[in-house]
Amino acid sequence: MVQARVKAPTREGNKMVSMLQTDTNTTLQPVPMLDFSREYAEIREEVLAAITAVCDSQRFILGPAVESFETAAAHACGVPYAIGCSSGTDALWLALAALHIGSSSLPSHLNPSNLSPVQNPSTQAVITTPFSFFATASSILRAGAQPIFADIDPNTFNLSPHTTAELLQSHPAAGIMPVHLYGQCADMTAFKTLAITHNLKLIEDAAQAFGATWQGVPAGALSDAAAFSFYPTKNLAAFGDAGLLTTQNPETADRARMLRAHGMKVRYFHEEVGWNARIDSIQAAILQIKLRHVDAGNQRRRELAALYDQRFTAANLTGPTTADGIVLPYTDPRGTHVFHQYVIRAPRRDELRAYLTAHSIGTEIYYPLPLHQQKALANLGYNPGDFPHAERAAAEVLALPIYPHLREDELDTVVEAIRRFYA
Ligand SMILES: *Cc1c(COP(=O)(O)O)cnc(C)c1O
Repeated sequence: MVQARVKAPTREGNKMVSMLQTDTNTTLQPVPMLDFSREYAEIREEVLAAITAVCDSQRFILGPAVESFETAAAHACGVPYAIGCSSGTDALWLALAALHIGSSSLPSHLNPSNLSPVQNPSTQAVITTPFSFFATASSILRAGAQPIFADIDPNTFNLSPHTTAELLQSHPAAGIMPVHLYGQCADMTAFKTLAITHNLKLIEDAAQAFGATWQGVPAGALSDAAAFSFYPTKNLAAFGDAGLLTTQNPETADRARMLRAHGMKVRYFHEEVGWNARIDSIQAAILQIKLRHVDAGNQRRRELAALYDQRFTAANLTGPTTADGIVLPYTDPRGTHVFHQYVIRAPRRDELRAYLTAHSIGTEIYYPLPLHQQKALANLGYNPGDFPHAERAAAEVLALPIYPHLREDELDTVVEAIRRFYA
């Protein structure tokens, strides 16, 4: 217990009064990074009924459960088309392929000698951020295009429209793929302008941002095509792998649906080389239930984020840079952040994390190594130092526990543990 209520005598009288006091010697309670069992306890009956209904129907692939979820998800994202996919990664690949970016839907792509588009100067390029999950870049390669990186905005950690614009001066591209990292939309106003000016496609990696908005428009409705992930740790989470593609364009939607199911429009007649990227009916049925709770969950995440901000500020731990203290997350007022993650920049980050781990307080680093420094992407030809903002972020960021069922006393414990570390 962090702030123990202790009884202390007052000078005013002999009555014992209760006051709040921080006792540095108390043991810190463990705080897990994530505990979805709390949510599950609340929705268990509903979820099990939905799973049972799918089992009773014996329709496990696509079918009515998927169509019903797709309709609800499209409505939530403010788009006419939503296509359930097997994962966020497949949704990203499908978005690119559906927009005719890369060579993945051509049979020649099956030739292994064509699997390294990096050496081929005619390969289409997609500009994206070096500070994201690996799938952001691998889906571009998988589509048969080349990822090229531009540095991030150090305030939001998102792809910077300025570095993107600079890169476009020298590197023609077929698309831009900003990531709404940690649940905050990238500057989609600026990216839309760039996309129009340079006549290229805009794809959102919205894997972490279900329910986020930019200037009132939901993530998923801010581009030519968007990809969501419902990986079990995401803010809208399945009970396994699942994802979603959203678009406002009927042809893109048709093409994504076709490529999702082996390039078939008519069963066993294949128009192109697609893939199996379908969502399971059971996942769709579970997601449909969870979808009803996602807005309230996002709202609670924002409240918890505000509480962290308040507590860190009250404890005098914060500063504008890591030379001065903890740097709190920056929220762009043009968007609504869903705090898929609450990420601080921390002085002596690795030592702090080791201290918290030693006290059973969960944290994560998203992400410790930027994409341009990943071994698997060495043939893209980048060097350390190429993206200083991304590299600095990788060295400083620390994600703290945040999810709708995180208790306030747990949040206080996290803050208290961090206070003790820096004391
Ligand atoms: C989770 C995630 C993905 C991949 O989603 P999966 O469902 O795990 O395939 C892609 N991009 C980002 C930014 C993610 O966080």
